[in-house]
Amino acid sequence: MATQILQGFMTCERCGNCCKNAPAIELTYADLLSIAKHFSIPVEEARQLYARSANELGSGKIAIKNAKPCMFYAEGAGCEIYDHRPKACEQYPFIGASSLSMGAITIRKTCPGAVTALETLEKIKEHTRTCQVCKTYGSAVCEEVKKILGRKI
Ligand code: SF4
Ligand code: SF4
Ligand SMILES: [Zn+2]
Repeated sequence: MATQILQGFMTCERCGNCCKNAPAIELTYADLLSIAKHFSIPVEEARQLYARSANELGSGKIAIKNAKPCMFYAEGAGCEIYDHRPKACEQYPFIGASSLSMGAITIRKTCPGAVTALETLEKIKEHTRTCQVCKTYGSAVCEEVKKILGRKI
C-alpha cells in the first residue's frame, strides 16, 4: 500500500546508484521463486546461483550474492531481471515501505531521485501524525494525502 503511494511521487533519474552500490539486497522466498521463473530454472538452482546467507540483515536471511554492483546489473541496459526483481528493489529507495504506517518509512539518501520524494514524505508524515482517516483507514484512502501528492496516484 505505502509502496504504491510512495512510488507515485518518486522520480527515478536512472543513475544506477542503487544497483551499483546497494547494501545487501534481501531475497525472500517469493523473490527466489520469481527469479527462478525468470531464468526457467528450479528454485533450488536459483538459490545456489544467486543467493547467499546475509546475517547482517537478520538471522536466516538471504541476499543476492554480489551487490556492488548487483550481479543482475548490466551497464547501459540496467536490471536484467527487472520484471522479476526482488521486492526490496521494487521498494527502493524507501525502507520499511511494506509497513502500513507512513511514519515508519525512511528514504535512502544515496538516491538522487529521492530528494523530492523526501520532501513529500515529510509532508505526509506531518499530516498522518494528526489525521484520523490515515490512522483508521490508512493513508492510501486519505484525500488530504492525495492532495499532498498532487493527485499523482
Ligand atoms: S539510485 Fe534512485 S534515481 Fe538512481 S537509479 Fe536508483 S532509484 Fe533511480
Ligand atoms: S536486482 Fe535489479 S533492480 Fe535489484 S539491485 Fe539488482 S540490478 Fe538493481
Ligand atoms: Zn490523512
